Amino acid sequence: MNKPFYKRITFYRYISLTFFFFLIVINPILIYKYGITFIQGWYQSFAVGNFFIVSPLEGIESILTSKSIYLTAIIGMLFPIILASLLGRVFCSWVCPISFLSELTDKIIGIFSKKLKYQRNFITLPKYILWFALIAEIIFTLIIGYPLFVWWSPPALVGREIMLYVFYKIITIEIGIVLIILLLNLLTKRFFCRYLCPLGALLALFGKNRKLVIEYDSTKCINCKLCDQRCPLDIKPSIGNSEGIHCWNCFECKDACPTEALKITWGKDKVLEFKINKNISKNYN
Ligand code: SF4
Ligand code: SF4
Repeated sequence: MNKPFYKRITFYRYISLTFFFFLIVINPILIYKYGITFIQGWYQSFAVGNFFIVSPLEGIESILTSKSIYLTAIIGMLFPIILASLLGRVFCSWVCPISFLSELTDKIIGIFSKKLKYQRNFITLPKYILWFALIAEIIFTLIIGYPLFVWWSPPALVGREIMLYVFYKIITIEIGIVLIILLLNLLTKRFFCRYLCPLGALLALFGKNRKLVIEYDSTKCINCKLCDQRCPLDIKPSIGNSEGIHCWNCFECKDACPTEALKITWGKDKVLEFKINKNISKNYN
């Protein structure tokens, strides 16, 4: 692939993942050492000044278990819900610290095997398992009467463990959940994100009719399957599955496609073609 890395959307996604990861590293240090509290929390309940963001799954679970409607929680959930409704599951691919750590895992694997860096499918399950993960999460929450995901949410765990280390120099046993997710990632790329993350499932549901979609044009497809090789969720954009509910808009397939068969679209209008991809055909000739 001739396209310079900085011209690929993946480059900007890496910048985004790195920025959001370092935010949860730097933030407890700023609070602990300098008392700067402008930004607080991690990717579960996050505050920038007076602007609150609440993860929708934890918010829904809290409402279900407390049987009370908290206006602050509802308002805090609005931003991620609107974002997912318009852009899809982009929290997972552009923000989540588990994605950041998984990308690092891929880089390490890539040192040993280029093929395994892009695709690893040693354990595969039907894609609909993701919906069962969400249903099971809600059922267990109702049975135990406690918002379960508040305790075990992997993106939140990363932030909470960093905070605990900075403040108290301790790491808790729950970090094992993150390590298991990364170990599963060695067997199947994004195994947890593909099949088991209830938050990912909920965001995918919100984004079912999202505006931002990678549209597939079979008339321009040369059937090279480069997109399939790059898709971390094994979605098969080469048959149009990037338009479906499971796609998290990472644009890896778009970067890999040597033709204009995959277009970034807003609604039905193909108006959002990134400038950085304009010369893609030239780069492949
Ligand atoms: S179909 Fe494309 S944008 Fe969607 S998850 Fe796969 S590689 Fe990412
Ligand atoms: S990379 Fe592009 S041309 Fe190749 S199979 Fe996928 S959509 Fe078709």
